[in-house]
Formats: sequence, structure tokens, C-alpha cells
Amino acid sequence: MATKNIAFVSTPKAPHFVGDGFRVHNFIPSGDGLSMERMSPFIMLDYNSKYNFPPSEIPKGVGVHPHRGFETVTIAYKGKVAHHDSAGGDGIISEGDVQWMTAASGVLHKEYHEEEFSKTGGIFQMVQLWVNLPAKDKMTAPKYQGITNDQISKYQLPDNAGIIEIIAGNYKGVTGAASTFTPVNLQNAKLNKGGKADFSFPANYNTALLVIEGSIKVNDTQLVPTDHFVLFENKGEDFTVEALENAIVLVLSGEPIKEPIFAHGPFVMNTREEIIQAFDDVNLGKFGYLED
Ligand code: MN
Repeated sequence: MATKNIAFVSTPKAPHFVGDGFRVHNFIPSGDGLSMERMSPFIMLDYNSKYNFPPSEIPKGVGVHPHRGFETVTIAYKGKVAHHDSAGGDGIISEGDVQWMTAASGVLHKEYHEEEFSKTGGIFQMVQLWVNLPAKDKMTAPKYQGITNDQISKYQLPDNAGIIEIIAGNYKGVTGAASTFTPVNLQNAKLNKGGKADFSFPANYNTALLVIEGSIKVNDTQLVPTDHFVLFENKGEDFTVEALENAIVLVLSGEPIKEPIFAHGPFVMNTREEIIQAFDDVNLGKFGYLED
């Protein structure tokens, strides 16, 4: 097997607010060469780097809005988020938990800081990732997977190097908790200082890292600081990550969905007609009802 080299490292851009509760750096899609097509099946990645929210009696967040055609995955590193959707899915995710919502044919949902967290305030750090669905699954029924940290499979690395949390996909024979429609690997490498992990994914899978905590060295050569995003080439399979200090690294690798993408706001479909249909269906109440 050949080494998978870094294509480039993307620096975090100036943050912006999504609603009033998520202060994010957008990595996907961006003009940096991280287009939806290049990163498929990962079509959006917003990263709320560590940010101290002051106490608030009214929970901050994003009000009721629709989604169709893909899945939203929220990974909590610091703070707590509450979710409600029109398909009856709801839950609170805390540090270490993951929420995997399949919008598919359409849901309305809202995402807010959890009430107690909101009242005390504190450090908030999250990733929101959108995973595309193939055309044949875009109009399937919505689904909600609330995955708490104790449900996430863990692979213990040798030599006290740390652990790999397998949210989805597979690491050295350990399979992740989340069910996916296409092959998706989503893993947190939680490495101790000096700890090293090796990864192997098919060459054609779109593969990337986001450094959540600490700084790392990739393939024994390239230093990557906190909050930076690494894109790998679609050549070779194997790479290594070494923690230069205690580190958390989000590892993404998925089989590209080779279908046309037509995206508009909260909808990601294959054609323009399907986007118009989505707007019509929201107006016709086909996405259900959710109280503000
Ligand atoms: Mn949303």
C-alpha cells in the first residue's frame, strides 16, 4: 500500500454566526478547492472553534428551518446542544456525543444551546457536517440517531498512544455506531502527546482531517496546527497522525457519490427542478410542523 500525501492544508477563515448560537469557520464548500464535488459525500462542514458564550436566559441557536436531500451530523466537543425536528426526533448532545439526523425527504428542525448550558454559559466547540445522500435515498423517510459517547466504539491504540472513536465506518476491524447510506468513515483520534495512529482508506475516498485540539504531524513530515483542515490526495491509502501535544483529530473519509449536485440553502438535490419542488413542498406543509 502506498502513502496518502497531503494535497493542502486549509487555514480557518474569519468566523461568522449561524443563527446566534454557532460561531463557525466554514471549510466546506469553499473556494479553497474544497467544493461539494471534491469533498463528496461531505458537502458542508462548519466548525465552531472553542468560543466562550456568556450566560444567557434565552438559549441561543438556530430557529425552525427545513432540510432535504442529505444528513446533518453534529459532533459536540464542548458544550451542549438540543435538537427537535418535525419527524419526532429530539435529543440533547453533550461533550463527546454525536447527533446524526437524516433529513432525506424533508424535516423542519431547530438547534439550540441546551437550557442549563445556556444559563451558565461557557466554552462551546462543535462540528456540523452535512453528508450527502445518493439520488435513490434522497426521498426516503427521515431518521434520527442520537449517539452518546458510551455508544461510540473505541479502539485502544498500543503504547498508550490514545484511542480512536469510531462514529461511523471502520478502524482496524472495529465498526462505528452510526448507520450510513454510502461508505462513510467518521472518527475521532484522541491522542496523547507523542501518540501515533495509522489510517488506511481506499485511494478514491475523499479524505480529510480537522485538528480540534493540539497540534499534529502528518506522515512524519508535515506540521498541522489547531483548527486547521487537511485535505489528502486521491492517491495512496495510508497515512499517519502523530500528536505533538495531547490532540483530538476528526478524521473524515468517504466514497464519493458521483452524481450531479444542485444545492440551494438548506436543500441539496440533483437538479434545479427538485430544488423548486422542495420549496413548494415546504409551502404545502409536506415537511410537517414544528413549533418555534
Ligand atoms: Mn439545520
